[in-house]
Amino acid sequence: MKYDVAIIGAGVVGALTARELMKYKLRVCVLEAKDDVALGASRANSGIVHGGFDPVEGTLKAKLNVEGTRIMKTLVKELDVHYKQNGSMVLAFCEEEKAHLEKLYARGIANGVPELYLISGEEARAKEPALSENVYAALVCDSAGIVCPYDLTIAAMGNAMDNGAELFCNFPITAIDYADGVYTVRSGEKSVEASYVINSAGVGADEIAAMVGDKYTITPKKGEYMLLDRSEGNLVKYTIFQTPGVFGKGILVSPTADGNLLVGPTSELTEKGDLTTTLAGLDKIKAIAARSTEKVNYRKVITSFTGLRSSCADSEDFIIEFSKN
Ligand SMILES: Cc1cc2nc3c(=O)[nH]c(=O)nc-3n(C[C@H](O)[C@H](O)[C@H](O)COP(=O)(O)OP(=O)(O)OC[C@H]3O[C@@H](n4cnc5c(N)ncnc54)[C@H](O)[C@@H]3O)c2cc1C
Repeated sequence: MKYDVAIIGAGVVGALTARELMKYKLRVCVLEAKDDVALGASRANSGIVHGGFDPVEGTLKAKLNVEGTRIMKTLVKELDVHYKQNGSMVLAFCEEEKAHLEKLYARGIANGVPELYLISGEEARAKEPALSENVYAALVCDSAGIVCPYDLTIAAMGNAMDNGAELFCNFPITAIDYADGVYTVRSGEKSVEASYVINSAGVGADEIAAMVGDKYTITPKKGEYMLLDRSEGNLVKYTIFQTPGVFGKGILVSPTADGNLLVGPTSELTEKGDLTTTLAGLDKIKAIAARSTEKVNYRKVITSFTGLRSSCADSEDFIIEFSKN
């Protein structure tokens, strides 16, 4: 069977792309190396629907973060996925960090982020009583939210399939050939033919790109987490970040869309396939998170896990473009 579009990778990007394409009269298939959907980065991340004050002005990431907060409300209703618009808060612990928050605020305004404002340490503690006495100021973004990322992926793929998309699991792509306007996408002896191929293979995207002569370099960055029992899910309402700096970047304390508490992630360059959690990583999370709040009850950790970021050495921004070849 020849498809109009073959999508490689059944993560959140491949699944939502398939769902969108099924709004048109197209034959679409999704080709996944593993034996189910949402087994890559889409199952192991913070689940934050970012407000859009962090990405540099003019980038695709800035534009799509803001657009994402707007469309997520409708999307999660249509797909019946757990989501909360709980807002995010970036904490500053000194005057220097507060100056950085002011820069993030200005960037957010330039990016068109709604419901963004700066508050004092006392105002932050009034909103979030568990915060440390050392919190000096905070940047609040009430338009940010949290979503269950694997539910979102599974629901998007299910909806695409209800509308006719086909999913092939255990289908690791090994080669792509092109002749007479048709791509043959191969997995060992098996293959499908398609007029267009979409590469949404996460940490494997550089290998897929290389199959058609494009060069990207993915340098995976590992993020370790601890997930706590639902009894701890009300410690904070907002997703609590810290100002990026010497004490680390991006260790957050956040409720999840399912009512648990999530603490992490670390950020460390690693090899593809490295999903280990380490004592050193978890100790680092505890040490950094303690700046935000000392009230995390680590006796209630129910699991730890790791996700791999598809960081690309060639760009800090999202890459959505036609193949150069
Ligand atoms: C620690 C961490 C924290 C994060 N926090 C957030 C956050 O709070 N908010 C946010 O918006 N984003 C966050 N992200 C980013 C987010 O998780 C990713 O942007 C998103 O999950 C990427 O989805 P994807 O579909 O591109 O990739 P993936 O979910 O990784 O899916 C790619 C799929 O491609 C498949 N594949 C790979 N190679 C092949 C091949 N050769 N053949 C066939 N299939 C193949 C894989 O098996 C996989 O299923 C975070 C990521 C990490 C790791």
